[in-house]
Amino acid sequence: MPVRAENAVNAEQQKFVYDFTEGNKELKDLLGGKGANLAEMTNLGLPVPPGFTITTEACKTYLDSGSEPAELRDEVSAHLAALERKMGKKLGQADDPLLVSVRSGAKFSMPGMMDTVLNIGLSDESVHGLAAISGDERFAWDSYRRLVQMFGKTVLGIEGEPFEEAIEETKKTKGVTTDVELDAADLRSLVEEFKALVLKETGREFPQDAREQMDLAVRAVFESWNGDRAKLYRRQERIPHDLGTAVNICSMVFGNLGPDSGTGVAFTRDPASGQQGVYGDYLQNAQGEDVVAGIRNTVPLAELESLDKKSYDELMRIMETLETHYKDLCDIEFTIERGKLWMLQTRVGKRTAAAAFRIATQLVDQGLIDEAEALQRVNGNQLAQLMFPRFDSNGGGAGVTQIGWGIAASPGAAVGKAVFDSYTAIKWSRSGEQVILIRRETNPDDLDGMLAAEGILTSRGGKTSHAAVVARGMGKTCVCGAEELEVDTKRRRMTTSEGTVVEEGDVVSIDGSSGKVYAGEVPVVPSPVVEYFEGRVSPEAGETDELVQAVHRIMSYADGVRRLRVRANADNAEDAARARRFGAQGIGLCRTEHMFLGERRELVERLILADTAEERQQALSALLPLQQGDFVELFESMDGLPVTVRLLDPPLHEFLPDITELSVRVALAESRKDGNENDLRLLQAVHRLHEQNPMLGLRGVRLGLVIPGLFTMQVRAIAEAAAQRKAAGGDPRAEIMIPLVGTVQELEIVREEAEGVIAEVEKQHGVELKLALGTMIELPRAALTAGQIAESADFFSFGTNDLTQTVWGFSRDDVEASFFTAYLEKGIFGVSPFETIDKDGVGSLVRNAVEAGRATRPDLKLGVCGEHGGDPDSVHFFHEAGLDYVSCSPFRIPVARLESGRAAAKPQG
Ligand code: ADP
Ligand code: MG
Ligand code: MG
Repeated sequence: MPVRAENAVNAEQQKFVYDFTEGNKELKDLLGGKGANLAEMTNLGLPVPPGFTITTEACKTYLDSGSEPAELRDEVSAHLAALERKMGKKLGQADDPLLVSVRSGAKFSMPGMMDTVLNIGLSDESVHGLAAISGDERFAWDSYRRLVQMFGKTVLGIEGEPFEEAIEETKKTKGVTTDVELDAADLRSLVEEFKALVLKETGREFPQDAREQMDLAVRAVFESWNGDRAKLYRRQERIPHDLGTAVNICSMVFGNLGPDSGTGVAFTRDPASGQQGVYGDYLQNAQGEDVVAGIRNTVPLAELESLDKKSYDELMRIMETLETHYKDLCDIEFTIERGKLWMLQTRVGKRTAAAAFRIATQLVDQGLIDEAEALQRVNGNQLAQLMFPRFDSNGGGAGVTQIGWGIAASPGAAVGKAVFDSYTAIKWSRSGEQVILIRRETNPDDLDGMLAAEGILTSRGGKTSHAAVVARGMGKTCVCGAEELEVDTKRRRMTTSEGTVVEEGDVVSIDGSSGKVYAGEVPVVPSPVVEYFEGRVSPEAGETDELVQAVHRIMSYADGVRRLRVRANADNAEDAARARRFGAQGIGLCRTEHMFLGERRELVERLILADTAEERQQALSALLPLQQGDFVELFESMDGLPVTVRLLDPPLHEFLPDITELSVRVALAESRKDGNENDLRLLQAVHRLHEQNPMLGLRGVRLGLVIPGLFTMQVRAIAEAAAQRKAAGGDPRAEIMIPLVGTVQELEIVREEAEGVIAEVEKQHGVELKLALGTMIELPRAALTAGQIAESADFFSFGTNDLTQTVWGFSRDDVEASFFTAYLEKGIFGVSPFETIDKDGVGSLVRNAVEAGRATRPDLKLGVCGEHGGDPDSVHFFHEAGLDYVSCSPFRIPVARLESGRAAAKPQG
């Protein structure tokens, strides 16, 4: 890899250890997020306990070669010596020990990385020194027992439970309920117990040498990079596996030195709403990990003001410094040691989608960032989340309780009766019930049940489980991996961890955006953001909530800067009208297959069964006015904007009766001797048209070339509709799109015929229609010969759904439900290529076709239709590839607008 080569060149100057004073927040690759931010705070002059960071490069070397880089030991020694000089004591020194924490910290924070070990440097000897110097025997033994416990668990890999049981046991014997009530003697005997446990479990004494403790902990952090949980998480979140983690060595400060000490966490503003204020939790007389562990009740941060006004005021000042400096919401960890405040961590904090939009505009109003930056602070996935209907935040009232919590796998809010198998899901939904399909996990057999359900709930599996992948593909709400729910499909019930039983037919509600599961019906309210896009609420300040105003401001800015135009995939006037309200600048894909269904199906049958040219012509003539009517409506709703109409694409058998049903009907009729001539002919036709691989069969332009008059009928309907709209004073802008072209010859023939028809209609009505004729690029061959195809095309529209199928050689319907989960889990895909365009494969064909097409015809119009047009990452790709527009489903239009803006305004580099 080129990165490695570069490192090799720099090998001489490479150093593996940085003092906190040497780093800064830009060095996350090298120092990890935690280390880079500790350095940044140090250099801002904030009170950070001194320390140093071992780089991710050292970790990488360890992981590649199985041992620490040769220079590491000496470098650590030098930095440790400097730290000891600064602190005026030596690591583990018997009469006054310097103690440190060893903390993992990768570029991205990750579950599965090693937990922090506090109080490194304590031993049977130095614990007495610590007691003497602090004047607090209890504190010293408390610190030591924490060390043996944390070290045993995280470095030596001993189960945590026996340690906790021992503490519980001691509390019980003493008749107390909290750990602060244990005295020095209790803690001292706990240390003995813990050490015995270490010996028993590992066959080795707990290491008494301070440096050995530190080195072992550092190595354990390196190794945790390749732990199973960390690996799984990286794969799911698409974090590269070769980043490595840094290790931070930080001198200890003590929150467990009595009631004037404590530890806490805080946010500079509310991560749920974005509001500024005092948000956080504080715990007196405790060390860091106690806050998260929830062993005692914390108090709201605001109470610190009355406990320790001086520290509180300083904390407020620091929080303001951090916000102004990072120009964003920060979360922090701090500790107070005998009235002195210390900062232990900060980072730009996670937030909800709503808070992201609100905070971005608040920061603009405060003058901290400009609007271009605000646009980069939000993204399309967050916007999409805000567009799902959601549960009423006032809760569900009587009878509704939260019964579980799983992974928010596919957003939305769904309510329905619990069913535990697909068959029941389908049966009940057919009779008009809304159901939630609950399974331990799903598999391809559950597909129809998932389709029938309002939402899907599983007790197993993560973001790439079958349920999650398929539900996202279907756009269904899904919560998966709700582990405390015991699903019993045989007895058709599930049991919560508290023992509540949900039987088949009981109503449950699931929230795919938060992962929460409720018993009972939580009322669903429409999203205010959708109400705004629909034009039902005004974005004016004062008239609506802050969120809608924030979305409106950011969207307006994005619209102003984006280069890509955004069109909709819409087949009828109703969808077109909604798309227009959502900001569509035309239709990029109007499929015409629905114009052959319903009552019109009979005409299609006649067309297929026609024995003579005359019969065929009759059927076509009957279809013509019907289609024309559809187009008139569509052109009217998109008046003044381009409408790309795709000529018939799917194989004809899709319009004929099902082969099995028809065979049975014919067989029955025959046995009764009252055979119906038409059915027999139909069955023959069905057999004739039956294909092994319909996706690769007689469809698209091939149909147009083989069924005389079919495409010309459609072209005539479009031209007549356009002429009719013109006569009515409208401004129709139709574009005719030929699907599935593989070679320019196909297009030439269709084009010639179409031009003839259009000329006829123009002459007849005495108008000029200016209809554009173009093609989809959805076969590899079309992309490869795009230069030739452009000779006959006014525009290309990349059909990236089919292009993905044909480039990869798999059919979406068949494979998504079968092996995609395995592929995602094995890391072969980071994300399904149907969700986000495969830039290297499919994308490279797109880029080539853009270049070749434009070389032939510089004014060639280029767009994309297909679901990728509404996917954030793909939109960025299409922007960079130089397309003119993206087209997507009406509901994704705001996402495409926002991401087109972000792509255009993205800072270079
Ligand atoms: P995490 O990434 O899990 O938050 P941290 O490294 O931040 O792990 O440490 C866990 C807890 O220990 C935090 O509450 C942190 O504030 C505390 N902590 C870490 N280092 C020190 C230290 N040197 N002195 C006091 N507390 C510490
Ligand atoms: Mg932390
Ligand atoms: Mg296609």
